[in-house]
Amino acid sequence: MNDADSPRTNFIRDLILAGNASGKHGGRVHTRFPPEPNGYLHVGHAKSIMLNFGLAEEFGGKCNLRFDDTNPTKEETEYVESIIEDVKWLGGDFGDRLFYASDYFQQLYDWAVDLIKKGKAFVCDLSGDQVRETRGTLTEGGRNSPYRDRSVEENLDLFARMKDGEFPDGSRILRAKIDMASPNLNKRDPVMYRILRAEHHRTGNRWCIYPMYDWAHGQCDSIEGITHSICTLEFEDHRPLYDWYLDQLSVFHPQQIEFDRLNLTYTLMSKRKLLQLVQRGVVEGWDDPRMPTISGMRRRGYSPQGLRTFARNLGVSKTTGLTEFEMLEYYIREDLNRTAPRVMTVLRPLKLVLTNYPEGQAEFLEAVNNPEDADAGKRSVPFGGELCIDREDFRETPPKGYHRLYPGNEVRLRYGYIVKCHDFVKDPATGEITEVHCTYDPETRSGHQTRRVKSTIHWVSAAEAIPVEVRLYDKLFTAENPNETPDGQDFTMYLNPKSLEVVQGKAEPSLANARPGDRYQFERLGYFCVDKSSKAERLVFNRTAELRDTWAKLQKRL
Ligand code: ATP
Ligand code: MG
Repeated sequence: MNDADSPRTNFIRDLILAGNASGKHGGRVHTRFPPEPNGYLHVGHAKSIMLNFGLAEEFGGKCNLRFDDTNPTKEETEYVESIIEDVKWLGGDFGDRLFYASDYFQQLYDWAVDLIKKGKAFVCDLSGDQVRETRGTLTEGGRNSPYRDRSVEENLDLFARMKDGEFPDGSRILRAKIDMASPNLNKRDPVMYRILRAEHHRTGNRWCIYPMYDWAHGQCDSIEGITHSICTLEFEDHRPLYDWYLDQLSVFHPQQIEFDRLNLTYTLMSKRKLLQLVQRGVVEGWDDPRMPTISGMRRRGYSPQGLRTFARNLGVSKTTGLTEFEMLEYYIREDLNRTAPRVMTVLRPLKLVLTNYPEGQAEFLEAVNNPEDADAGKRSVPFGGELCIDREDFRETPPKGYHRLYPGNEVRLRYGYIVKCHDFVKDPATGEITEVHCTYDPETRSGHQTRRVKSTIHWVSAAEAIPVEVRLYDKLFTAENPNETPDGQDFTMYLNPKSLEVVQGKAEPSLANARPGDRYQFERLGYFCVDKSSKAERLVFNRTAELRDTWAKLQKRL
């Protein structure tokens, strides 16, 4: 990651600094980003990626990408591939350190055998329901399993036979033998292995027992020599269990540090819920531009730099909050403002005729590609007697404060002339305005000494403009926190029925060469990105963000 911005300080960074000062881990910083491949990455993961890769880079260390693939029924190669792509796109450099928890299945099995030999694990024949029932509550201890005192020999024999496929799915489990009275529920003889005949995306049918996440996670970190095992707050209560396992095995002990999850307003991050949106066809797929996924945001036109700066400015804390979506948009806009070339596109075209423009005349006007970037240069935009403007820029009867076109009023055409409306044509059947008639003042060409008018509007030349499909996105949910629903309802009650509007617009001809992924600012309208489905003969754009910056305004008011 080659961000110009210096690293933001936070408590994790302070812990590492303090640890390094006292010689902990020999000054080594080795982190990892450990996704479960059960869905696509979302913007919350971007926070974790930035933290883990960012800290490794800052301290001259390393960061691994490790798939925590312990749950074969929910995991797929498609997810693995998308996650690798997203991490790389965000700039996460894991070099040749791409690992899988499944790489360590044999080691984990051997360690489980060690625990059995030490009398610290046992095979239990209780059903899932019985395990839950005997677990106790927050205020009451649990009850010992009747199988807890099996001999080491019997446990070794049963566990080997579990592995060899002698018992049906769900009939037996391996449990750690810790303390059913522990105030920490995670330490009440937690499950280490279950029997599950499911094909694993990497190990196929080699195993019919699979380690639980809690048994695998800490040991995987230990195997990889992870010094700082950074995870989200819900794992704080699991830390004593991870410590217990590592202590029993006497292996390298990573330092676990918990931080707050990112939650954003008007969206949700649970992969389970996002999967439902995909499965029910509410969105086009995981990379639908309305999704809070990295791939959706990429398709929508968010830049990696914009997302990185956002993630970096989020802060890291010990309490979970709700971040405003507008803050994300602010950083996306800030980056695009610097980098996106300006072009003129009309979303809802309305014909504008210049009644005094000399017949047969055509000219080119000079337009600035990016006022924020002196190197971006200029381009020529064709101009003529028939133009298209956006419907919103004309009113038959102007409301108060409206300074755009209406009969009798003047506006400037961007990079062009001042025009004055003298007439319009209305479809008698529908009442729709079909043409606006203006005269242009040839003395007022942009760039020359000329008079000023209150409003400037964008336009395209009717003859040269190219058709474009533009997809206008709005929030996917209508509630700030779609996770908070009344009893008996689920998050889909808050789906915004107007989250997508498709319009057929007209763009200046310079866009003819736009390729999927290219980003632009459509003057006065916002930032737009060429969709992956776009073809030269049928250009498709996604609206990335509007120009209006609500977050900066909000900050000023505070
Ligand atoms: P979800 O609940 O969305 O499925 P998860 O925590 O189960 O998320 P993992 O694939 O296990 O997803 O996450 C990989 C890493 O990303 C973990 O270290 C996890 O703590 C972190 N992470 C997941 N969601 C967020 C979030 N919203 N904010 C910050 N970090 C997150
Ligand atoms: Mg998970």
